[in-house]
Amino acid sequence: MTKYFDGSIAQLEEKVEAQLSDYRFQHVRRVRDYAVQLAEANGVDPDQAEVAALVHDYAKERSDSDFIAVIKRKKMDPDLLNWGNYIWHGVVGAEMIHDELGITDPDILTAVREHTTGAGATMSKLSQVIFMADYLEVGRDFDGVQVARDITKQSLEQGVKYQIVHTLARLVKKETPIYPKSLETYNYWVRKEN
Ligand code: GDP
Ligand code: FE
Ligand code: FE
Ligand code: FE
Repeated sequence: MTKYFDGSIAQLEEKVEAQLSDYRFQHVRRVRDYAVQLAEANGVDPDQAEVAALVHDYAKERSDSDFIAVIKRKKMDPDLLNWGNYIWHGVVGAEMIHDELGITDPDILTAVREHTTGAGATMSKLSQVIFMADYLEVGRDFDGVQVARDITKQSLEQGVKYQIVHTLARLVKKETPIYPKSLETYNYWVRKEN
């Protein structure tokens, strides 16, 4: 039992597994393992990190029409309609996690909303842990991943800065639109002294 979900972790895993392809469910399990370690190292409740990690991509394989229906029904910011799955699965996905899984912990739901873009000054340690675990889980293999793991082991906050700088650089290079929250995250973490 966990205080963050009405059931066991095994039951939560089953519900997530039912929503995802096998390769993505395996990613979710690796994010869980990495998040629990980062939580223990950074004074975050590992049970809270475990639940947040297990649900972070819960909505990733939902159809665009599912997301659009929720945006309209809940009268969410209409600007969301200008974006796509990569933004919706966190921001709108948090609503589905609340409504379908009964997860109500506001810090978990915020960490899910922020897991793709990060956030600025208000970004909690839990949210930083999920953001970094998603980026660094042992199945990730990109140029610099080991450097990013080493930096994050030294300092969770330096890891957040590393990720946002490198992700934005990659998106700009590909001439991909940048979600405003990602820019807010970048501006906060590049200015921050630590
Ligand atoms: P995943 O769900 O485990 O694949 O990882 P994320 O939720 O962190 O990211 C989903 C995708 O969104 C990745 O390809 C990111 O590079 C991309 N992404 C992150 N921020 C932005 C942004 O501001 N704009 C765009 N277009 N894509 C972004
Ligand atoms: Fe994601
Ligand atoms: Fe991420
Ligand atoms: Fe993920």
